[in-house]
Amino acid sequence: MKKAAITGHPVSHSKSPEIHSYWLKQLGLEGEYGRVEVSPSTAMDFYQSLKDNGLDGCNVTIPNKEIAFEAAQHLDDAAKAIGAVNTLWLDEDGVLCGSNTDGLGFLGNLDQGCPGWDNNVNKAVVLGAGGAARAIIWALQQRGFNNIHICNRTFEKSKVLADYFGGNVSAQPWENRSTDLEGADLLVNTTALGMKGQPKLDIALDKLSKKAVVTDIVYTPLMTDLLKTAIERGNPVVDGLGMLLHQATVGFAKWFGQMPEVTEELRQQTIKSMDLEG
Ligand code: NAP
Repeated sequence: MKKAAITGHPVSHSKSPEIHSYWLKQLGLEGEYGRVEVSPSTAMDFYQSLKDNGLDGCNVTIPNKEIAFEAAQHLDDAAKAIGAVNTLWLDEDGVLCGSNTDGLGFLGNLDQGCPGWDNNVNKAVVLGAGGAARAIIWALQQRGFNNIHICNRTFEKSKVLADYFGGNVSAQPWENRSTDLEGADLLVNTTALGMKGQPKLDIALDKLSKKAVVTDIVYTPLMTDLLKTAIERGNPVVDGLGMLLHQATVGFAKWFGQMPEVTEELRQQTIKSMDLEG
């Protein structure tokens, strides 16, 4: 029987076991997905001897994503571009392979929530320049965005990302986040702003075309103020929960051999267990 787990420190809050158990049951597959606390000091050894630790693969969460990146013997394009690994598996020769599935999760969520969102697109405005922004910028480049603006409170961090990803990505001052929306086909919030317990995201959408898609990767609450404002003015919106669910599909397929579906039932189950509307 194949075994996988969420690994990191801490892992007690993770919803991954519920998501993967749902798919194992739905697809009638034998398999197990658990939680393993792995401190950063033991992480390299742990990932390099996954099989000896009783696992065929795992997800990796903070603070071990960069260690998993170093531990993997083979990295896919997403992991290489993002510089961090959240999914590990052993291939048929026992080689430890790593991916970063956040970018694909982001794309899968928009494909499902707003089909056609990437038709004839050019400009995207990405708020934030942290780990999630890095994965999303990579993902947007895969879908042909030719003009990606990063607005981040700490300008130097957006500059580092823009330089890393190259010509079609530019760093913009945080103060310009409202005016910079002119001509954008997509607005993405990847900052922690708007999340439960965090300050509000202060942005005016007046300059944004009403056709532009607005998405927030914050999903606590599910309907952030940004998404509420966008809906009120008629923009298509996609909430961030689907990114969490879609990013998990890639690892599941690697470990258990079948690509699972992000169903409405799974989404509702997750909303209920996380009390996202409560
Ligand atoms: P991170 O690397 O810590 O980056 C945090 C970002 O938020 C940085 O750009 C930071 O700006 C900005 N920020 C934080 N507080 C701010 C404030 N008061 N004013 C302005 N900007 C502020 O975190 P991350 O991993 O990228 O995650 C970011 C958010 O996305 C979190 O809320 C996380 O839960 C969510 N997320 C969701 C998914 C999903 O599946 N839906 C996946 C990953 C992450 P500075 O650079 O100036 O500090």
